[in-house]
Amino acid sequence: MDRRKFIAGAGLGILAAASPISLSAIEAITPKPRKSGRLNLSFFPYELKLRHAFNLARYSRTTTPDIQVQLEYDGVIGYGECSMPPYLGESVESVSKFLSSLDLSQFNDPFKIQDILTYVDGVAPNNRAAKAGVDIALHDLLGKIMGQPWYKIWGYNPEKTPMTSFTIGIDTEEVVRQKVEEARPYKVIKVKMGLDKDQETINIIREMMPDVPICVDVNQGWKTKEHGLEMCHWLAERNCLFVEQPFDKTMIDETAWLRERSPLPIIADEAFQRLPDILRFKGVYDGINIKLMKSTGLYEAHKMVTLAKSLDMKVMIGCMTETSCAVTAAANLSPVVDYCDLDGNLLIANDRFTGMTVENGKVTLHDIPGIGVKLL
Ligand code: MG
Repeated sequence: MDRRKFIAGAGLGILAAASPISLSAIEAITPKPRKSGRLNLSFFPYELKLRHAFNLARYSRTTTPDIQVQLEYDGVIGYGECSMPPYLGESVESVSKFLSSLDLSQFNDPFKIQDILTYVDGVAPNNRAAKAGVDIALHDLLGKIMGQPWYKIWGYNPEKTPMTSFTIGIDTEEVVRQKVEEARPYKVIKVKMGLDKDQETINIIREMMPDVPICVDVNQGWKTKEHGLEMCHWLAERNCLFVEQPFDKTMIDETAWLRERSPLPIIADEAFQRLPDILRFKGVYDGINIKLMKSTGLYEAHKMVTLAKSLDMKVMIGCMTETSCAVTAAANLSPVVDYCDLDGNLLIANDRFTGMTVENGKVTLHDIPGIGVKLL
């Protein structure tokens, strides 16, 4: 029993034994019920400035549109974030419109997570980053009310966090060399591929860092299954760990063909969005890359980890370019994943939060309630 209730209860007992008690006297000694709160959602646009131009197989950019979300309940504030890389189809306009259409004040109990998020998911299809912003803010709020970080609430061991990779984009030899230098503290490197410099980039990295494991992300850039298989063998001989999204997301048969023959695991990223995709992808991909901006947040991402593991699929946790808010939220899942690619906050110059850190290349979770962040 909490201390206030115990004291109040004891007081009532004494009064009841001594004499008949008036209603006003009971009211005077009964603690005021907790203010009947409502969920209050607010948000504002916050453009992320990238430290380097981000070059992928299909486009390049120097900023990422982003919306910062706050969810308040009885004076406690949960933080969330929607990051909208343009290729995913959401924008400041679409996310603002979606968030403005929500009426979260109808909920007076923030612990009814399933009710709240089922409502949010049902307001309109897609809008995954917008939904993730609400989900992350709700998890932050609830963790703060409970006084615990989510990795603890889920029962995960923070000592089991993996190494996270540092991403090197597609670039000139000079810039690749500069980024490899920057990547020295990391124990795993992720290389973007899919243009005509694939082997050249790997050769530069191997010359500068002969032993570091390399994850390869093709971002749908390879065109034929034969070229894909040839590259998988070439990469396997150079200590690469896996290949992410080798072909266009619609090339299901080609991907299954490659997976059967490839010496390296094949991981789904662009092809993979929501929970039901996992069952479709068993036998096509060896694993999935979960990102909160695709999964609509932590509630579904947590289920994805459980389902994929039960199907003996590999699980990777990744991110978009995001502040430490969404990156740290995702890091709560990292103790149970196979691969981790949580460097999105390191790629921006205007972070608003401190949260998870990378120490000696390893994701490091701190004992901060909620998703684990503090405003800078
Ligand atoms: Mg990827």
